[in-house]
Amino acid sequence: MKIEAGVPNDWKNITVLSNGFVRLDGCEATDLSVVNSARVSYGMRREEVQLSDEKLISYLMKNKHGTPFEHNMFRFHIKAPIFIFREWQRHRVGSFNELSARYKELEPEWYVPAAVDVRKRVGRPGHYTYERAKTDEAHKFRSSIDMVCRRAFDTYRMALASGIAPELARLCLPVATYSEMYWTVNARSLMNFLNLRNAATAQYEIQQYAIAVEHFFSFKMPVTYKAFIENKRVAP
Ligand SMILES: Cc1cc2nc3c(=O)[nH]c(=O)nc-3n(C[C@H](O)[C@H](O)[C@H](O)COP(=O)(O)OP(=O)(O)OC[C@H]3O[C@@H](n4cnc5c(N)ncnc54)[C@H](O)[C@@H]3O)c2cc1C
Repeated sequence: MKIEAGVPNDWKNITVLSNGFVRLDGCEATDLSVVNSARVSYGMRREEVQLSDEKLISYLMKNKHGTPFEHNMFRFHIKAPIFIFREWQRHRVGSFNELSARYKELEPEWYVPAAVDVRKRVGRPGHYTYERAKTDEAHKFRSSIDMVCRRAFDTYRMALASGIAPELARLCLPVATYSEMYWTVNARSLMNFLNLRNAATAQYEIQQYAIAVEHFFSFKMPVTYKAFIENKRVAP
């Protein structure tokens, strides 16, 4: 994942993996919205976040008063391999729209892990750990993926050229193929996503995307983010 040093306030795009990105396409999210949606219970409204409001946000987070964290939205444009979208789209609280291979020919772009990211799983179920594959094993694996994906795209393009319907032609494409989607989500659901996907137990590749999402969240809602971290990354 590439984040430019000294990111400006209007920074919007983070490069992830070989060809992917997370781009903040739109955002209506402030700590003040958490404060005011909570304080409406008492008919109160603030113009800006005060010290006592920071305590309130921390209290809401700790005591699982989750609804005040729902009055906001983050709209992300994401490019990632299909296997990552399979995991991501399990997060039901949020909205998704994805590029359609029925309507658009997919670009020959696929994810090949960097040699240092090729890992082996060791241990038993529930207690797995990962260790880096030896250099020659990593290279062999990387070239196999590359070869399979290349062949798959050749077959895909030949099928399209011969008039096979795009929704059938795509059947030969691997889950390493890059796709794009829009994801709109509120802070409460976003924190649940971060808790599960920017975690040591998550697959490394989706974790890289979750780290990018977390950067945007931390910039847009700094007080809420601080409370989330202090609450051991448990969503309210
Ligand atoms: C490490 C890891 C491994 C995984 N492995 C698998 C796997 O092998 N197979 C698999 O199928 N999935 C797997 N998942 C996906 C997982 O089961 C969840 O679907 C996914 O993480 C989304 O979490 P969520 O339900 O909390 O989020 P969301 O769907 O966004 O839901 C947010 C919250 O809303 C509430 N909610 C949403 N829908 C309902 C509902 N129908 N009923 C009651 N409450 C609801 C819950 O409180 C939930 O936490 C894995 C996830 C992780 C992180």
